[in-house]
Amino acid sequence: MKALVAVKRVVDYNVKVRVKSDQTGVELANVKMAMNPFCEIAVEEAVRLKDKGMVSEVIVVTVGPQVAQEQLRTALALGADRAILIQTDEDVQPLAIAKLLKAVADQEQPQIIILGKQAIDGDNNQTGQMLAALAGFSQGTFASVVKLESDKALVTREIDGGLQTLQLTLPVVVTTDLRLNEPRYASLPNIMKAKKKPLDVKTPADFGVNVTPTIKTIKVEAPKERQAGIMVKTVEELVEKLKNEAKVI
Ligand code: AMP
Repeated sequence: MKALVAVKRVVDYNVKVRVKSDQTGVELANVKMAMNPFCEIAVEEAVRLKDKGMVSEVIVVTVGPQVAQEQLRTALALGADRAILIQTDEDVQPLAIAKLLKAVADQEQPQIIILGKQAIDGDNNQTGQMLAALAGFSQGTFASVVKLESDKALVTREIDGGLQTLQLTLPVVVTTDLRLNEPRYASLPNIMKAKKKPLDVKTPADFGVNVTPTIKTIKVEAPKERQAGIMVKTVEELVEKLKNEAKVI
């Protein structure tokens, strides 16, 4: 059984993002980029399924610019077997990503496709769901436990106020939540080995998918600066300030 994992190159989560002066987006020049954290969890889960003997091959795919090969090499160093870059400089939106992933799935015939529940740049939380619908696969989103059996998957989901376990018929799309696993670090020998693993470069046109954006971002604004807080000494002082300064009670 093959596992397909979709990974996205995003601004590293440790970077404090800055809005561009023309408010068209966030500053990307000279900013550290990394694999989306939820996608790292997706790669880790696929590699663990392979370690358990449930999956025979892990294929990672990304849609992005040529430099997104870096994130594919990271995934290969973490244990994926081969990689596909669908190269484009367009800012490809979730529906087109889902169409491209469906086209890859048609070729590769995976029984499980694992994605992050969301990419931390656009916070869309759409691609996995759209892909499941387009491909006609069952879907288990926000997974905190994934178990594979011969023809089904058990996915435990984090929902408001508790956990829900679903039994899904394969093939299945799974999106990862934070508690699914703790991704490993790539060891130096594995980073070296990853350089020799196969990485195919394709274009959206190879899959007949139009990636022209259909949604336009009108404006991006930074949140308002918060004022520094003050320490009060007594409850009376707090009540007085809430009443007379903040005027909220
Ligand atoms: P989103 O719907 O944009 O929040 O992204 C959810 C998940 O879809 C990500 O964690 C990835 O697994 C996948 N995804 C989104 N964009 C891309 C991309 N450009 N290339 C590959 N996978 C992607």
